[in-house]
Amino acid sequence: MPAKIIDGKKIAEKILNGLKSKIKSMKEKPGLAIVLVGDNPASEIYVSSKEKTFKEVEGYCERHNLDKDVSEMDLLNLVTKLNNNPKVHGILVQLPLPKHINEHLITNSILPHKDVDGFTSVNLGHLMSGNTILAPATARAVLNLIESTGIEIEGKNAVVVGRSNIVGKPVAIMLLEKNATVAVCHSKTKNIAEHTKKADILVAAAGKPKLITREMVKEGAVVIDVGINRVNGKIVGDVDFENVKEIAGYITPVPGGVGPITIAMLMENTLKAMELAKKGI
Ligand code: NAD
Repeated sequence: MPAKIIDGKKIAEKILNGLKSKIKSMKEKPGLAIVLVGDNPASEIYVSSKEKTFKEVEGYCERHNLDKDVSEMDLLNLVTKLNNNPKVHGILVQLPLPKHINEHLITNSILPHKDVDGFTSVNLGHLMSGNTILAPATARAVLNLIESTGIEIEGKNAVVVGRSNIVGKPVAIMLLEKNATVAVCHSKTKNIAEHTKKADILVAAAGKPKLITREMVKEGAVVIDVGINRVNGKIVGDVDFENVKEIAGYITPVPGGVGPITIAMLMENTLKAMELAKKGI
């Protein structure tokens, strides 16, 4: 039987509608500052989409476009200003940054309680130790999509393909937290299929089109495709969707799967950041 397609757009819409009515009733609005350095076309699309969605839920959003040659010091100064701005509850510096800028330094210059991307070492450390404060939005989106199927995560074999600090590793930690048995595959893994074939839950986050083929998937598995790749002008994921959907139990499409939920999770994180600010954390 072909897989059930998980409709990320529909789930995101529901979450965003909930946020919108919550924000409507608030006197002070959750504020997000987005910093974009340079003119990377993919980053421009991601940033515009985040900005648009944030305004739709009636939050406060300010955007800072900086030249690709901006100095590290000028960027640090802007983050400091935003850290000190009480109207701004969440700060997002869109990655990747130009080569002359130290990404780790900039990411960690954001105050942890304003780090709505959850990328600072402090927030990743909290996630690692089971005391999550602000977790990476994409990883939260993956968990949300898995949970939307209603399957029990506890005791399942989960395989995550990709081990980046912003997607693969946090997804693996969150699945561990839910008591799955987790394996992480990466570019140096010898035989990926050997692992993926055992996965009840398979998360693909490598950024390689058609990396996951039908032969690599266990019958009935939940397959979450995080990948965003441009092939002949079209956006595709890491999973050979047409063939894998014939064997999986559930599958997310690209586009329309993880992407929309990621933005909804970012909005939720900003609301949470606002609550943290109120508590003086
Ligand atoms: P990354 O390049 O930082 O990491 C990719 C990971 O995949 C690495 O750990 C690498 O070891 C692994 N990998 C690469 N080639 C592989 C191969 N052939 N076999 C097995 N593993 C391999 O990327 P990232 O930032 O983690 O993003 C991963 C993908 O997810 C990208 O396509 C990115 O565009 C997408 N993404 C989507 C969203 C969203 O909201 N939908 C958000 C973030 C990233």
